Amino acid sequence: MKDMALKPADAPAETAGVLLPLPLAGAYDYKLPRGIRAARGLVVRAPLGSRESLGVVWGKAEGAVGDNRLKEAVPLDGQPILPAGLCDFIDWVSHYTLTPPGLVLAMALRSRQAFEAEIRRTAYVKGEELPKRMTPTRQRVLDVAADGLARSIPQLAEDANATPAVVRGLVEAGALLETELPEFPPFETPGPDFAGTTLNTEQDLAAHLLRSGVAGHRFAVSLLDGVTGSGKTETYFEAVAEALRRERQTLILLPEIALTVQFLDRFAERFGVRPAEWHSDLSQRERRRTWRAVMSGEARVVVGARSALFLPFKALGLIVVDEEHEQAYKQEDGAIYHARDMAVVRGRIENCPVVLASATPSLETYVNATSGRYAHLRLHRRHGEAVMPQVRLIDMREARGEPGTFLSPPLREALAVTLGAGEQAMLFLNRRGYAPLTLCAACGHKMVCRQCSAWLVEHRYRKRLVCHHCGFETATPPQCPQCGESGTLAACGPGVERVAEEFKLAFPEARVAIASSDTLHGPLETQMAIRAMAKRETDVLIGTQIVAKGHHFPQLTLVGVVDADLGGSDGDVRARERTFQLLHQVAGRAGRAEKPGLVLMQTRNPDDAVMKALAASDRDAFYEQERRSREITRAPPFGRLAAIILSGRDGEAVRVAGRELAKAAPAARGVKVWGPTPAFYSLLRGQTRERLLVQAERFVDVQAYLRAWLASVKLAKPVRLTVDVDPVSFF
Ligand code: ADP
Ligand code: ZN
Ligand code: ZN
Repeated sequence: MKDMALKPADAPAETAGVLLPLPLAGAYDYKLPRGIRAARGLVVRAPLGSRESLGVVWGKAEGAVGDNRLKEAVPLDGQPILPAGLCDFIDWVSHYTLTPPGLVLAMALRSRQAFEAEIRRTAYVKGEELPKRMTPTRQRVLDVAADGLARSIPQLAEDANATPAVVRGLVEAGALLETELPEFPPFETPGPDFAGTTLNTEQDLAAHLLRSGVAGHRFAVSLLDGVTGSGKTETYFEAVAEALRRERQTLILLPEIALTVQFLDRFAERFGVRPAEWHSDLSQRERRRTWRAVMSGEARVVVGARSALFLPFKALGLIVVDEEHEQAYKQEDGAIYHARDMAVVRGRIENCPVVLASATPSLETYVNATSGRYAHLRLHRRHGEAVMPQVRLIDMREARGEPGTFLSPPLREALAVTLGAGEQAMLFLNRRGYAPLTLCAACGHKMVCRQCSAWLVEHRYRKRLVCHHCGFETATPPQCPQCGESGTLAACGPGVERVAEEFKLAFPEARVAIASSDTLHGPLETQMAIRAMAKRETDVLIGTQIVAKGHHFPQLTLVGVVDADLGGSDGDVRARERTFQLLHQVAGRAGRAEKPGLVLMQTRNPDDAVMKALAASDRDAFYEQERRSREITRAPPFGRLAAIILSGRDGEAVRVAGRELAKAAPAARGVKVWGPTPAFYSLLRGQTRERLLVQAERFVDVQAYLRAWLASVKLAKPVRLTVDVDPVSFF
């Protein structure tokens, strides 16, 4: 980092390119106050039109030196400088994703008040003097204060079971003295040796390699590949401990906030204190606190969602991406990036090891690990007694129950046995609500969203039809809106609510809970359902993919997958991989303690490779087959993809723009451009959407190709263009 020594006062003012956190093509020129050096990363206030914006000195000014018309950008108090690693990372992400650099910077400056003076709060400590008049309540307050800690008035009142008035009386009497505290107490440093674990041989070998990577402070990527419960977390905690010993920071990425809470507690058990957290549920003040503590180095371990990648780490020594295969790592709006891939980039820039952990790695990572580009650390066995569950397929072409039912006779039988034995079961269906489609039996009319080309999903408890894309909802109408007949609208197919209804009819005695991520069963209810399951207060948990992840239910011995074929065929290169990952993960919920687990999967395609690999518990067979098929089709990681999405309210303008864009696509070796075609949801929130897909050989510089192409066309104003490099969803 450059030092900020002042220059002689008579030196001319320096100019600089200042990056503003706005969607502009590049940096803007400013001059700096005399004596201030234009150090990259210096945070400034820059006039912009009639306003003022935060900005960051990014490089040299573009214009001629000594241009007097330049406006002056002024450094903030204390002249804060963003770490060089973060600045380089911002440039890299911007270049790779074709996102304007200012928008990427905006993600890094997400804590707007990060640079404002710290708030201090008033607190009180016990003084030397005693009040003239002593009462039992006053005595209680002074007894509480006797420990010497500073507390606010409400805090003292609460701790002493007194009223705030009594505390204020003591302040007036001079028995409590005013003092100032920082807004938050400092982050405590986790203890690397607070609670060690005795690792088994395989874990120990992996931990040893990870530790030496941290000690060597070199960039290297490892895939920590092990079945659920094999101790991946336990193992990478050893690498975290090593980073703590070396006084370097660690970033642990988790795919979802819902998983963070459990994780923080687990971390505290191992390291004595909770780590800093970073995600969208933090208040502005907490954000500011964490942002600063990361920049100062005080926050040693940060656990967070993908946006934590853009924090200003002072001395990053390790990055862990847990459940690296999760699609939630892909940010789909604003700057479109994949946090797992960008974590690897950040690790390279910071020169620190990156650990990707998963029981079902993404195919990209699997190929990198098996080809030797990444270290492949495998944990083959579950820790302790637990064995992998047995998976059996139920062929739904033969084992169907009565019409309108979704739990086959063999699954019902297994449920009866499990409940009879006093054990727990889980039913999995990756569909929220009661039914995915409502259809008129008289005229065939389908209830669809007016804003989106999507079916409205019935939520029967609330008697509403809901669009899961834009949130539009309406009361379930008594008549068909098309033909006017009443009583003809019929629910088609199951959602979790419908499965729960069927289950309750069959097992009226059992205690059931639904866990699904929607407005009725919101995050709180879901957490409660999961906790109740863990405490054995529920016999059967029925849920969407939210129940598939990370939870530990020791008494769960049966998992029923209601529709294993769901999502297997939507024409996207990763659909099969995702189905496999999800089902494998769901299966992994069963039999996590000493009792063996059984997984029953209802399918209409028992001969499909995904199903066969699941039934044989042969994960690598699936991966090898998937690798070959991607290799043949030149799909990622054997080729590159980039999607261009055009959207706008004026459907015709969007379609015209799509055709013009396609016509302008330059011919280049190894590049094919497909489309335009209507997107899967050709209408979404009222926006018409068209897609183009660029398919390129690995040697092609896709970014350069896209830049040249997009620079050559000018779109009509109302059409919005979005570039998605390495797309993972094809909506
Ligand atoms: P994973 O991250 O692979 O799912 P975890 O690290 O969560 O696995 O381990 C699963 C369970 O087994 C946890 O309760 C963990 O504490 C326990 N465990 C794993 N390894 C050990 C070990 N070596 N000694 C004691 N308990 C362990
Ligand atoms: Zn009708
Ligand atoms: Zn909609």
